[in-house]
Amino acid sequence: MKTAILNKGKETKYINGYPLIEEEDIYQQGALESGDLFHLKTAQGDYIATGYVGFQHKGLGWVLTYDEAAVIDQAFFENVFELARQERDYYYRIDGTNAFRLFNGEGDGVGGLTIDYYNGHLLIQWYSRGIYAFRDDIIAAITTVFDYTSIYEKTRFKDSNIEGGFVMGDAPEFPIVIEENFTFYNVHLDDGPMTGIFLDQKEVRKKIRDYYSAERRVLNLFSYTGAFSVIAASEATQTTSVDLANRSRPMTEENFGLNGIDPKTQALYVMDTFDYYKYAERHGLTYDTIVIDPPSFARNKKKTFSVTKDYDKLIKGALPLLNRKGTLVLSTNHSMYPLKSFKNMIKRTMTELGVSYRIDEVMGLPKDFKTHTQYKPSKYLKVVFVTLMD
Ligand code: SAH
Repeated sequence: MKTAILNKGKETKYINGYPLIEEEDIYQQGALESGDLFHLKTAQGDYIATGYVGFQHKGLGWVLTYDEAAVIDQAFFENVFELARQERDYYYRIDGTNAFRLFNGEGDGVGGLTIDYYNGHLLIQWYSRGIYAFRDDIIAAITTVFDYTSIYEKTRFKDSNIEGGFVMGDAPEFPIVIEENFTFYNVHLDDGPMTGIFLDQKEVRKKIRDYYSAERRVLNLFSYTGAFSVIAASEATQTTSVDLANRSRPMTEENFGLNGIDPKTQALYVMDTFDYYKYAERHGLTYDTIVIDPPSFARNKKKTFSVTKDYDKLIKGALPLLNRKGTLVLSTNHSMYPLKSFKNMIKRTMTELGVSYRIDEVMGLPKDFKTHTQYKPSKYLKVVFVTLMD
């Protein structure tokens, strides 16, 4: 077994269960390569954990077990999957929802690997070449533990020789339709990096429908396939969706159609958000709920946008469009933007503009996106509901 020896003083963090083995904490390692298993040891040579090499974030790899005798084989993965499956019992049984995350990386014990369930069709995502090296054992374990109609995969690391796509089972015709909180969405498992829906926002979508849509005009910025718009439209006076990508229009219209909503009754703009701010101001368009869920980084024309630097500009642009007592739903999935900094930015921005507000809700990941208590970035989703006060 290969080894990685920690720098002196770094052992406590790992003994306490920190799952990402960071390169800068390693004093010496024996020619570790992607997919290798290794023992993580203290400077004195005592065993702490067994990990695999898979480069991700600042990490050399992830801890798999604290049992020195453990063998990392199909049976090992079957055990972790079985635990994960039992913990999702609620999601298998619940009415009105048939899509959720079955296995969430380090939260469920294997960093770098996620498995999602889309009404019987599974999507595996590999986040490094290192975890991909265990593909055969992992797929064999998945087929043993989980029921499935088909299995698809996507790689989240760069390798032009590895193509994602169909793995096994009865291939459906895409898009398939999934249901979430009694709302229907189209899903593609074999078309680019995204699937049409971000399952981690399901509770936020429900919250918006149940509390922030009735008798409101709802603006959804960075709307992608219109998931927030579609669920809001069941209650809202009207919805407006804004996204820069051309593909957002047909995908959003189809999602409205699936739910018996005539897309012509809703507004849809293929436009840059900042351009839409100007357009809406010129046309006197105002809203009662504005959802802002941008990508962490984006480049448009010559402008770049980064949530950690520029989120305040999104708020400043949205406020002139927000009616009295209106609500901003401010979302970010940037794992390196802590909730505290995000809330501070909101406070600073509102104070600067002299706007009084209250925070109604702070939401995060749903339970199927199980997080790791020792690893803060695993709680990457932060959604703050900010309501204006008179
Ligand atoms: N809120 C969506 C997910 C957003 S994904 C949901 O819940 O499903 C990010 C989206 O932002 C992409 O569809 C991308 O096309 C869009 N986007 C990126 N830069 C943009 C910009 N400057 N203005 C408008 N949309 C943008």
